[in-house]
Amino acid sequence: MRATIDGVGEVESELLISADGGGSAVRGVVLPDIRAQYAGYVAFRGLVPEEQLPRAAADLLRDRFTFFEYPRSHMLVYLVAREDLSVAPGSRRYNWVWYRNADEETELEPMLTDRTGLRRESGVAPGMLAPEVERVLREAAREQLPWPMRMLIEATREPFVQAIVDLEVPRMVHGRVALLGDAAFVPRPHTAASTSKAAANVLALVEALEAEPDVTHALRKWEPGQLQLGRYLRRWGQMLGDRSQFPDRGETVQW
Ligand SMILES: Cc1cc2nc3c(=O)[nH]c(=O)nc-3n(C[C@H](O)[C@H](O)[C@H](O)COP(=O)(O)OP(=O)(O)OC[C@H]3O[C@@H](n4cnc5c(N)ncnc54)[C@H](O)[C@@H]3O)c2cc1C
Repeated sequence: MRATIDGVGEVESELLISADGGGSAVRGVVLPDIRAQYAGYVAFRGLVPEEQLPRAAADLLRDRFTFFEYPRSHMLVYLVAREDLSVAPGSRRYNWVWYRNADEETELEPMLTDRTGLRRESGVAPGMLAPEVERVLREAAREQLPWPMRMLIEATREPFVQAIVDLEVPRMVHGRVALLGDAAFVPRPHTAASTSKAAANVLALVEALEAEPDVTHALRKWEPGQLQLGRYLRRWGQMLGDRSQFPDRGETVQW
């Protein structure tokens, strides 16, 4: 098969692997009608270097996976590696994620419009939140969060936001094109399993290709288990998210 890749030109190969994320350009070519569905809420996020969080909050949150749940929202906090991947105590970062409902028509639009006035597709990067969105976030934190989380948001220099979406493809194989990871399925983050799903897709593909030299046969054998995994996680994530953010809707997913 032949593919034209920006910055590379035309390439010929036996297999094209599309691992280009939730906004996959390749998926846009093979499945132009598949679109991510907005789930009704966003994740505000931030990272605070360990040494920048005031002592009282740091002592409470350190080395714990902390949840704060209340009706129609929840927040979690956990330590992650520094940018250089160091996990040495004292050099890590507190990572927080605060899920907040946002009406698609009235609230999402301004949240996804960055400080330069550009409407972003699915999120606004650190340092780019519009000042009014950041002001409202900080005010909401002061009003709604317990003190350790309030301190965390106060200590965050550049909060950012991502819209939460559902995305599912009917097929992961299109001729000699294989869609992997978020290019195929975007489960909501509550499963905490999307990265391992992407890795599982790849490992299974390697195994299938090693076992079956004919690429199209290998892809045919590979696809059913990967579709099953993607569908399972997408539904599981939807159930977890809706239960927290929209408890009045009841269980929306049938098992
Ligand atoms: C709020 C939130 C919290 C999350 N928490 C977790 C969690 O706790 N655990 C977990 O497992 N997952 C979590 N996830 C999901 C996880 O981040 C993704 O599932 C994972 O990154 C998907 O990996 P991927 O390789 O498929 O796609 P990506 O990580 O999006 O990688 C795609 C890559 O393709 C590149 N690319 C895109 N287009 C092109 C192009 N045209 N040409 C060349 N390169 C291109 C991009 O630059 C990028 O490097 C979370 C997501 C969100 C939104």
